[in-house]
Amino acid sequence: MKTIDLRSDTVTQPTHRMREAMREAELGDDVFAEDPTINRLEAIAADMLGTEAALFAASGTQSNLLAMLSHCQRGDEYIVGQLAHTYKYEAGGAAVLGSIQPQPLDFEDDGTLDLGKVRAFIKEDDFHFARTRLLCLENTQSGKVLPLSYLEKARELCNEKNLNLHLDGARVFNAAIFLQVPVKEIAQHFDSISFCLSKGLGAPVGSVLCGPREFVDTARRWRKMVGGGMRQAGMLAAAGIYALENHIERLSEDHELADKLANGLKGIDDIDVLFGGAKTNMVFIRLAPEKVENLTAYLLEQNIVVTPGDVMRLVIHLDIDDGDIERFLSVLVAFFASDNSQDASSVTQYAATPY
Ligand SMILES: *Cc1c(COP(=O)(O)O)cnc(C)c1O
Repeated sequence: MKTIDLRSDTVTQPTHRMREAMREAELGDDVFAEDPTINRLEAIAADMLGTEAALFAASGTQSNLLAMLSHCQRGDEYIVGQLAHTYKYEAGGAAVLGSIQPQPLDFEDDGTLDLGKVRAFIKEDDFHFARTRLLCLENTQSGKVLPLSYLEKARELCNEKNLNLHLDGARVFNAAIFLQVPVKEIAQHFDSISFCLSKGLGAPVGSVLCGPREFVDTARRWRKMVGGGMRQAGMLAAAGIYALENHIERLSEDHELADKLANGLKGIDDIDVLFGGAKTNMVFIRLAPEKVENLTAYLLEQNIVVTPGDVMRLVIHLDIDDGDIERFLSVLVAFFASDNSQDASSVTQYAATPY
């Protein structure tokens, strides 16, 4: 039976054609800037995002780290969401490796940071304070798409206050597809953008950091320093190019399937669908905490994998189709009908992935 893995869009396997592209990639030593496939990926990414340059990175965590190290000096500060990936899920890299102080603020319900609060937390030029240098936004944020009008206002604030503006755009293509705009229209407001090839786009590895030439040169030095200078990595870049050329438009199918999932879940009494339904490729549900363990075990017996929690994030991706959603919904209905919540069996073979 096929495994239905709803934990994250990172779990996708490269398709047959993507593997072909990887196998046939022309390769060279990328530390010498001689890998033609990496060079091509970086050129394509810069062109799509409308930036001067781009840099291939091993992961989104690395790409965000390089951005923060490039924007900020020791003793500088960045303003960031309390639940932002860069703050919460990247092992404190900016603080550990860059001596960059975070100023976390709560996200609003729509995934934005309130610009009035951001303004209030920008520190005056006073030697008592860290120097506020950077505002970091996330788009999508838990699947939510930041409005373009909001990005414009964030840009204005950063201009006024002399801050750089970085986008953790791990899923920025989901946002662009949702808004039906070229990704450039989102990217234009930022000084730098990091996006993931290895999420909804379906590549096995990699992220790209986009920005002005000088910034990318600085980031390239940091990448070398943190051990991210890879050699014949064009095999990975080939998967990334394939993803950019073939897997962007289809993200709308993920969004439609997430909608279908959300609507199906709304018909199950024991489940609360949060945020009113699907947000791009994600659905968040709440269920009674005492049912979580049994449900997770029950699902696993049917080869369905979720991240346990009384708030559960369900993520649609390349390897999930219509039939999978139907199977998932009918297994849920069966679970709640039979009340399997009596005897718990322990199930933690699968790691919980927050992102
Ligand atoms: C996945 C993700 C990243 C990067 O994660 P890696 O696993 O390091 O590639 C960054 N930001 C957000 C919002 C993410 O979801």
